[in-house]
Amino acid sequence: MTAGEAIRAAAERLAAISDTARLDAEVLMAHAFGVSRSDLLLRHMRDPEPAGFAALVERRAASEPVAYIVGHQDFFGLTLAVSPAVLIPRGDSEVLVEAALAARPDARRVLDCGTGSGALLLAVLANIPGAKGIGIDRSPEALTIATANAEATGMGDRAEMRLADWDQPDWSAGLGRFDLILANPPYVEEAAQLDPSVRAFEPAGALFAGAEGLDAYRVLIPQLCYLLASDGVALIEIGHTQAEPVAAIAAAAGFESKLHHDLGGRPRVLQLQIPLGKQGASA
Ligand code: GLN
Repeated sequence: MTAGEAIRAAAERLAAISDTARLDAEVLMAHAFGVSRSDLLLRHMRDPEPAGFAALVERRAASEPVAYIVGHQDFFGLTLAVSPAVLIPRGDSEVLVEAALAARPDARRVLDCGTGSGALLLAVLANIPGAKGIGIDRSPEALTIATANAEATGMGDRAEMRLADWDQPDWSAGLGRFDLILANPPYVEEAAQLDPSVRAFEPAGALFAGAEGLDAYRVLIPQLCYLLASDGVALIEIGHTQAEPVAAIAAAAGFESKLHHDLGGRPRVLQLQIPLGKQGASA
């Protein structure tokens, strides 16, 4: 069978579990050849099917995400390494990066809370060449991936990845204050119906946050006033039903909030800042 024929057969099979079956099959075939997808499409479609392809399709058919099978995911123009220790960066999170860049294009210090693969921090730093950042995570395995991504994207000297857990006392001692704080914390309800490719493969510690999915916001948001510069801006990813409760948590902590929507038009990011008249008051 040619590679092109094998892709067609695989796409038909994967349609049962994936909305992007043809794309999945192409990305897996490119991985089997060890080439980019565009090289595959331009140069290898008539080559014989490589030996490893069938096993990759088997894994995908068992719902394993393509990004974990091939070991990388593109995000905001960066190619980032991923493993099951980190959440796979989502296109929906790119709106958080856009909002951060629009709010503080002059940022000098950036903090990413729960950095995972480093996606949010590295995407922001890549677009603000004068900025430096710290990514914190409670998972040492995630920090290994984030550190490798900082190096591989040429930002090893501007992005520092540190072990820290906001559920522990004094986790933020010595971090200082930041112009931008980014966070895509766990926000899924424990009992949520999730696609098997998410629930069975992505790290539970990055997804789940109590019965309502609000536990991480309740702990993290009230602490942001000690970490933000008085004119600093925090961008917090939320689940699409969580805008009201998270805005209420933020208001109780003294922040005003502005909502940003994702490409599907759903609420996705809350932008928090200290109201103008109160800036300096909490510092
Ligand atoms: N957006 C992810 C999902 O819906 C959840 C990410 C998170 O909890 N931070 O699968």
